[in-house]
Amino acid sequence: MNVKDFTIKSFGEGFKAKEFSALEFAQELFKEIESGDKEIGAYLSLIKDGAFLEAGRADLLRAEGGELLPLTGVPLAIKDNMLIKGYPATASSRMLENYVAAYDATVITKLKNEHAVFLGKTNLDEFAMGSSTENSAFHTTKNPHDTSRVAGGSSGGSAAAVASGLAVAALGSDTGGSIRQPAALCGVVGMKPTYGTVSRLGLIAMASSLDQIGPFTKTVEDSKILFDAVRGMDIHDATSTNSHYKISKEEIKKLKIGIPKEYFVDGIDPAVVKGVEEAIQKLKKLGFSFKEVSLPNTKYALSVYYIIMPAEVSTNLARLDGIRYSRDVQDVKSLRDLYVKNRAHGFGPETRRRVLLGTFVLSSGYYDAYYSKAQKVRRLIQEDFDNAFNEVDVILSPVTPTPAFKVGEKTADPLSMYLSDIFTIPANLAGIPAISIPVKKYVVGSGELPIGFQLMGKNFHEEDLFGIGEMYEAE
Ligand code: GLN
Repeated sequence: MNVKDFTIKSFGEGFKAKEFSALEFAQELFKEIESGDKEIGAYLSLIKDGAFLEAGRADLLRAEGGELLPLTGVPLAIKDNMLIKGYPATASSRMLENYVAAYDATVITKLKNEHAVFLGKTNLDEFAMGSSTENSAFHTTKNPHDTSRVAGGSSGGSAAAVASGLAVAALGSDTGGSIRQPAALCGVVGMKPTYGTVSRLGLIAMASSLDQIGPFTKTVEDSKILFDAVRGMDIHDATSTNSHYKISKEEIKKLKIGIPKEYFVDGIDPAVVKGVEEAIQKLKKLGFSFKEVSLPNTKYALSVYYIIMPAEVSTNLARLDGIRYSRDVQDVKSLRDLYVKNRAHGFGPETRRRVLLGTFVLSSGYYDAYYSKAQKVRRLIQEDFDNAFNEVDVILSPVTPTPAFKVGEKTADPLSMYLSDIFTIPANLAGIPAISIPVKKYVVGSGELPIGFQLMGKNFHEEDLFGIGEMYEAE
């Protein structure tokens, strides 16, 4: 048995058939992590004791003839900006280096109720700000397909863990593309749910009107399983809600797919164009009809995002003042000195850049010129999607303009790094669900770099994306 090859689905089948115990599976997987993760750096911390304990519980449940749920015993990796009580949650920041989570995120509570097994916490860009994990205060995660390249970000650790088989599946968070972009770069499936579908309680907030938690998996089928396990209204998150949209297999085949002309512009890497073309051809063969649509305000998405997001970042991170989440700073002379020492040394350069930018766009005299204007354009971007969805059911596009880039290639130029998210940001601004699916089937170590394509859907229509994705996958 090679534990690195399992999906949630095949784990469940094998576990039910008593082909292995959850404990022996977890033990095997930790051996792989301990040898394999030295090179990749997907994890920041491991939860070995907790994982073995929970795996043992899953085995006991099976022995007693208890109900085995889809995630029972399944080893998962969790992005280190989500809280698991009693374990570190650093968000890859020096600021939270010594922080131990005081409660469980709602997604964790839900997974604990299913007796899922948490392997450890994965690397990210500091506070989820970045596209390569190079903004992590601790280390850079390498792409399992080519370790001279980045795994993408900010959830690069979760993407790399799944792509290298060092987790059966993982959770990440997506504010502007942080699930879909690393999924595309690592050749796995990544899904950002509709805003509000998954509770944000216990997710260390980056930009609260954009943040969503979602799954990283090896298959679309698994993506749906993990999404179903964590979704749902939560009394502790006022923006969360239940959705009841369902669609039959027959109806899936009738869905019309839109191609936004604004997403196929000069400057996209030819390999990406080829990959996306391939996906379109395959879907045409499956019988899907295509139509060109227009999202004319796409050109403003990046600018709008880089005003709204830092504004929310600057307010969210204000709580990290060195008092409530204290670091051990020496020679403090005054309160101001305490703030300065904590925030100057606790935050990395990208975090400081965004806090400054956000404070500026919210400041009096500039609020109307920047923040309030950006909110208006955000509305126009949402309306673009509303209009397009009057003509088609789903929109297909590239996920990223290039395949995985080299470590260090973009660190000196923040703007070129920001451009990595040009195709993923609009879905966050509009709140709609979007999935990144690998064009080439999930293969590790072929020497080729993975390319993904993106499907965006109507609000709460995750099922449309899963339905089309599963047909694509089965082909
Ligand atoms: N890469 C984008 C950024 O730097 C998106 C991050 C995210 O989705 N968390 O903001």
